[in-house]
Amino acid sequence: NAFPESRSVVLTGAASPRGIGRASAKYLAERGWNIGIIDIDEDAAQAVAAEIAEEFGVVASGVGANVADEAQVRAAYDRLELALPQIVALVNLAGVSSPVPYLDVTSEEWNRVMNINLNGVHFVTRRAVESMVSHGIGRVVSLSSVSAQRGGGTFSKTVYSAAKAGVIGFTRSVARELGPLGITANAISPGPIDTDIMGGTLTEERKVAMAADGVLPRIGTPRDIAAAIAYLISEDAGFVTGQTLNVDGGLYMH
Ligand code: NAD
Repeated sequence: NAFPESRSVVLTGAASPRGIGRASAKYLAERGWNIGIIDIDEDAAQAVAAEIAEEFGVVASGVGANVADEAQVRAAYDRLELALPQIVALVNLAGVSSPVPYLDVTSEEWNRVMNINLNGVHFVTRRAVESMVSHGIGRVVSLSSVSAQRGGGTFSKTVYSAAKAGVIGFTRSVARELGPLGITANAISPGPIDTDIMGGTLTEERKVAMAADGVLPRIGTPRDIAAAIAYLISEDAGFVTGQTLNVDGGLYMH
C-alpha cells in the first residue's frame, strides 16, 4: 500500500529540549510530516508541538502520558488520532537511563526501567498498529541502544541493556507477525549521543573517551539519529523490516 497524500508520525519522548525526539520531530516536520508527540511532560509536549506547527506549517499536536501506563497511552493516542491526518508512523523514543550496577539493583529500579523502556514500547506500539493494520500501512521504529548488543559499557547498566535488548526481540517478532498486514518494524541502536539522558555526566573528557572506543572520532548528535528515523519511516523503506540499524560511529559491527 502507498502512503496517503497527507501523513503523520507520532513520536514518544519528544519533549526534552536537547533530546533525540525533539530534534527528530523537527527534522521530520521539515520534510512534510505532520507531528504527534506523547511525553510524560505534557506542557513541554504541547510547547514543542506549537513550536513545530509555527516553524514548519504542519499539523502538530502534543499530549501527556506516561508510556508505562497503558490506559494513559491509549487515551493519548486516541486524542492524537482525532487531531492529526492519518498516522502512518510511530517512533518509540521515550526512555530513561539507569547507571545502577547490577549488584545494587532493587526490584523497584528493575521494574521502573522495564516498565518505561520495554512495556512502554509495547503499549504504544500495540495501540498504534491496531489502527495501522486497518489502513494496511504502517511504520514502527523503536530506539534500542548499542548497550543491548555490547553488554552495557556506555553509561547505563544491566537493567537498561536488558530492556533495550527486549526492544530488538520485540521488533523482530512484530515485524514477522505484522509484515503481511502492511507494517514494517525496525530498531535503531544509537551509540552515545549528546543529549541530557546521562544526567550531566557527559563531560567533554567523557565524550572523548567514549568516542575513542568507536571507529569515528566523535560521539553522535540527535540529528544523526533523526536522519536514520526519517529513512526507516519513509515510503521507500518498505522492503526493510525486522532490522536493527546501528548509528553508533562503528562501536558495534554486526
Ligand atoms: P532524553 O532524556 O533527552 O529524552 C527522553 C524523553 O522521554 C524526555 O522527553 C522524557 O520526558 C520522556 N520520557 C521519559 N520517561 C517517560 C515516560 N515514562 N513516559 C513518557 N515519556 C517519557 O533522552 P534521549 O537521549 O533523547 O533518548 C531518547 C531515546 O534514545 C531513549 O529511548 C534512549 O534510551 C535512547 N538512546 C539514547 C542514547 C544517548 O546516548 N542519548 C543512546 C542510546 C539510546
